[in-house]
Amino acid sequence: MPKFVLIGSGLAGGLLAAYLGRRGYEVDLYERRADPREGNIVGGRSINLALSTRGIHALEQIGIADVVLRHAIPMRGRMIHPAGAGRAPIFVPYDVDPKKCINSIGRAALNTTVIEAAQRYPNVRVQFSHRCTDVDLTEAVAYLETSSVEAAVSAANPQPQIIKAKGDAIIGVDGAFSAVRQSMQKKLANFEYDESYLPHGYKELTIPPGPDGSWQMEKNALHIWPRKSFMMIALPNPDGSFTCTLFWEFEGPRSFATAKTDDEVCDFFDEEFPDAVPLMPTLLQDFKDNPTGSLVTIRCGPWFYKDKVALVGDAAHAVVPFYGQGMNAAFEDCVVLDECVEKFPDNRERAFAEYFVRRKENADALADLAIGNFIEMRDKTASGAFRAKKKLDHLLEAALAGVYLPLYTMVTFTRIPYAEAARRAQRQDRIVYGTLIAAVIIIVSLLVHFVAR
Ligand SMILES: Cc1cc2nc3c(=O)[nH]c(=O)nc-3n(C[C@H](O)[C@H](O)[C@H](O)COP(=O)(O)OP(=O)(O)OC[C@H]3O[C@@H](n4cnc5c(N)ncnc54)[C@H](O)[C@@H]3O)c2cc1C
Repeated sequence: MPKFVLIGSGLAGGLLAAYLGRRGYEVDLYERRADPREGNIVGGRSINLALSTRGIHALEQIGIADVVLRHAIPMRGRMIHPAGAGRAPIFVPYDVDPKKCINSIGRAALNTTVIEAAQRYPNVRVQFSHRCTDVDLTEAVAYLETSSVEAAVSAANPQPQIIKAKGDAIIGVDGAFSAVRQSMQKKLANFEYDESYLPHGYKELTIPPGPDGSWQMEKNALHIWPRKSFMMIALPNPDGSFTCTLFWEFEGPRSFATAKTDDEVCDFFDEEFPDAVPLMPTLLQDFKDNPTGSLVTIRCGPWFYKDKVALVGDAAHAVVPFYGQGMNAAFEDCVVLDECVEKFPDNRERAFAEYFVRRKENADALADLAIGNFIEMRDKTASGAFRAKKKLDHLLEAALAGVYLPLYTMVTFTRIPYAEAARRAQRQDRIVYGTLIAAVIIIVSLLVHFVAR
């Protein structure tokens, strides 16, 4: 059987290894970090994530959706915390069907579950503390720097060793700053690459459990504090805590750059998030200790080189996190790549090419949707017009079942390809708003006509 060398055992790497292992391929999976089961925290990334229909479907195919969802907390809608002291939060459901929800799950536990799913197959081997430094694209060889204790001891040398991992194909599942992709960028003349950063960064903060271990805010909701140009969100964790994420400008008159002293940080939070501050006893320490992450969108192509190399997940298409779809899309990549490998078992280049064609326009559409949703979350969710539009959406969805589907519903609760969902939403909006405008014109004309008589 052909051998795949996978670089990166993050969320998609573990899952893809399970899919390929199930097909009987030899799989060597290399991860630069230490084994997460040995207490290595998945540093620098969100602690929890929203898992929805596409991701659940991908986990179901490999038989691990139930175990993952057992530890998930369903979030049935957005809890909007308006600006100004003393204003009660407003709940806006995600869908007309109250059973439709997104699920808050811990990144570390999910990562362990997908790795263990891969390790069920004897033909899958996982090696931690192996960092890919380069890839020979034509030979399908990955160069890996190893810092594992065994390697250092056996070499009787504390310096990292470089080893070569040869496969029939290398798959880069090594995230937004992919080393595999960088090798393609350097070596392929036709490789297109574009990265763009938002002017905002993000910082994670904590609302701990209450004294009795319970959640100090509504548990089954994604909390949003929309503040026009910036926002804070909070997702519940199973231990009664919430992980909050502040998305704020890096620079500017009020920004991460101007929140340097304890007083500046406290003043900002007291002014903007007065209902959250009493629930955040470690706010100052968290603010100082936790890194400020950046928010990047990466578009590139092609995502493959002959039958030798392919990119999956954030390595191919990192998106900003505002639609809660990066991981879901990465999991969907695994499903599609698996289908393509099944369709062309003896022609891997065709399999890679078809996978790229099926995913690329959808990844590009998701990138646009994700940026658009930042504006919706941080600015529009605070307005009455937003809530009216959501009510109208839900009304139309109920009245025109199967015909009208709100964009959020298509993206989050169906597997309609992202690009098709975006196009369909535009068509729907044109028809709905066109009809509304026509109705208003007719009513006004009739009124004018009757008044004039
Ligand atoms: C703040 C934030 C919130 C988010 N929230 C959500 C959400 O709610 N829902 C959602 O669907 N998505 C969310 N995402 C997106 C999600 O985190 C990513 O889309 C997802 O992690 C992509 O999975 P991946 O396996 O492609 O990459 P990663 O999970 O980043 O995994 C890449 C792996 O490769 C390893 N690696 C990297 N370089 C090398 C190397 N040179 N050699 C060997 N190994 C290497 C890394 O250590 C890592 O383990 C969020 C992202 C952020 C930043």
